[in-house]
Amino acid sequence: MNADLEAAVRDRARNTCEYCLIPQTAEITDHQIDHVIARKHAGETTLENLAVSCFHCNVHKQTDLTGIDPDTRAITPLFNPRTDRWVDHFRMLSDGAIIAKSAVGRVTVYVLKMNESESVTLRGLLIRGEMIAPTV
Ligand SMILES: [Zn+2]
Repeated sequence: MNADLEAAVRDRARNTCEYCLIPQTAEITDHQIDHVIARKHAGETTLENLAVSCFHCNVHKQTDLTGIDPDTRAITPLFNPRTDRWVDHFRMLSDGAIIAKSAVGRVTVYVLKMNESESVTLRGLLIRGEMIAPTV
């Protein structure tokens, strides 16, 4: 991927994970450039098919396009940051937990393991501005 394209993807997302909303500045591991539709499914390396993803979300999403809705057992598409609006499918609580508002949200929270305790804790700390405190 060329550097200009990667920079455009990161700039568009303010280098924040487009799935779980954790910013790069809060992570030690580098956010990755995700093919929303994976190359193995003929997804192209274009601005319209790329998204910023934290390492955690990218590792769990892999090349998946769908998942099984934990409530209905229906095969359901994952959240697509290029065609879906985050607020239509999720909301974030003050403690950092992400609550699904749709089937797409439910399957994405489940497949990407968006509410593992470390992620919820980190988002909660970011929301409260308590990332780190000075010592004496
Ligand atoms: Zn993420």
